[in-house]
Amino acid sequence: MAAKNSAPPTVDVVIVGAGFSGLYLLHRLRRLGFSTRVFEAGTDVGGTWYWNRYPGARCDVESMQYSYSFSEDLQQEWGWSEKFSAQPEILEYAGHVADRFDLRRDIEFETTVNSAHFDAAQNRWLVETVKAEKVTAQFCIMATGCISTAQTAEFMGLADYKGETYHTGNWPHERVDFTGKRIAVIGTGSSGIQAIPVLAEEADHVTVFQRTPNYSLPSQNEPMTERYSRSWKDDYAELRKEQRYTPKGNLRELNDEPALSVTAEARARMFEERWAIGGPGFLGSYNDIILDKDANETAAEFVREKIRSIVRNPEVAELLAAKNYPIGTKRICIDSGYFETFNRDNVALVDISKNSIDRITERGLITDGKSYEFDAIVFATGFDAMTGTLFKVDIQGREGTRLRQKWDAGPRTYLGVMTAAFPNLFMITGPGSPSVLSNMMVSIEQHVDWVTDSIVHMRDQKLETMEPTLKAEDDWVEHVNMVAHKTLFPLAASWYMGANIPGKPRIFMPYIGGVGAYRRICEDVVAEGYKGFQFKSDETQVVAAE
Ligand code: NAP
Repeated sequence: MAAKNSAPPTVDVVIVGAGFSGLYLLHRLRRLGFSTRVFEAGTDVGGTWYWNRYPGARCDVESMQYSYSFSEDLQQEWGWSEKFSAQPEILEYAGHVADRFDLRRDIEFETTVNSAHFDAAQNRWLVETVKAEKVTAQFCIMATGCISTAQTAEFMGLADYKGETYHTGNWPHERVDFTGKRIAVIGTGSSGIQAIPVLAEEADHVTVFQRTPNYSLPSQNEPMTERYSRSWKDDYAELRKEQRYTPKGNLRELNDEPALSVTAEARARMFEERWAIGGPGFLGSYNDIILDKDANETAAEFVREKIRSIVRNPEVAELLAAKNYPIGTKRICIDSGYFETFNRDNVALVDISKNSIDRITERGLITDGKSYEFDAIVFATGFDAMTGTLFKVDIQGREGTRLRQKWDAGPRTYLGVMTAAFPNLFMITGPGSPSVLSNMMVSIEQHVDWVTDSIVHMRDQKLETMEPTLKAEDDWVEHVNMVAHKTLFPLAASWYMGANIPGKPRIFMPYIGGVGAYRRICEDVVAEGYKGFQFKSDETQVVAAE
């Protein structure tokens, strides 16, 4: 740490976050010869898999695909024990990567970054941590994740509650024992839907408070077989290449025909087949499920019928069956026995769609005039997604422009990777990129490669700063919106739209044009001399633009 009044230490690149983005960034930048410092709020690596350690936490993308591809040795030597891995194994994998590539020595744990200010006179970022540590860097890369700021809704009376409280996105590291306890779960998104079946196995009683029912598909998870693992590993390099140009960054079959072009019987067969395979591939049954309301309704009704056939109490089944938004327009959930859990004697569902939770009390909560008592409340209430974590850092660009202010009416980026007036500030999987609509590992690797290649380009060309032109940014924002509005996505009050946070602008934040199409756009931008970016060299002239 720098002594008082001495100039802060300096590195080429500061990285904020040691999740899968930060780890790969560090590895790549180090190999390219850049000095790098990583700041991480947690006590260890893993990002989202470090924080989200609630019972039942599991990836909803198959692990053979949700893993790094940058090292052939790594992908050959690591073995997954299940098709869809559970959180502890993914966290172990992150730790393995950190050890294998000796990454920990450049990471400062338990160190939250408070601010990052751009000094235009020096063309450097001054980054300050919660420990009052300062460091300057030519580049600052926000590898802070898209869903990393847990959202605990402002429930009246929460401070009065005498029982235990938990948030799925910030779960304790030690085991929580719910044996013999009565618990409430508030929230039925991916986290709640994964946690509820596991909690119900252990607790005395679970009451689920549901504001909006969610469509959920079975994972049909199973132990990894040598045969399945080999089918990937024997041809990994080629399969990964293919994966990078798919719409979602996942190799799975999209049936390229419209749903209503086939008979109802054929559709039922297709849906049944995909349901039996498990996972999100169900949404690829037809090519217009996310584009056409009638096509969507056929898939949605199939899922509702499944729920009615699984859940024995017809009233409960009806409450669990989503009806007021198209399937897939809120993040589809992938579960292990979620709907079956409502057949248990120790699980109750309370519909709070019409009467919200009035208040939390000393012993429980009140809704619709009825009082409930619990030993513990689990908040599965989601995240301030995509922008929340960036806003927690006081980021100031040129002329003191604050990121929070600039994005007051919604995030504005070029390619989801940079924003005008913030030179040399990069975001990994930022708003305006496929990010949360894709296999995050594929999108992370693509952004890390693109960003580090750009930094190498600047070193080679002796360029000092890089930032998008306003025009390129405006055009990109318009394009992102235009593509989103061609789909059914804006019809749902989802966190993609910022709808889960009171007062947050309703803008569809990720880019839905597809992982492959987006990658080609990024490649073209480079091929055309970094079209839409402006650079400055030592002599401060603009070297390239538009
Ligand atoms: P979420 O999808 O935003 O769900 C939050 C839930 O809490 C919703 O049911 C929401 O109801 C409810 N809620 C929020 N505020 C409430 C309030 N004041 N009163 C009552 N209910 C309230 O959050 P999440 O489940 O944590 O998932 C977030 C994202 O993380 C997922 O979409 C996914 O991308 C990712 N994730 C992935 C995995 C995986 O890979 N398997 C697992 C977990 C999470 P409304 O719908 O009515 O707002």
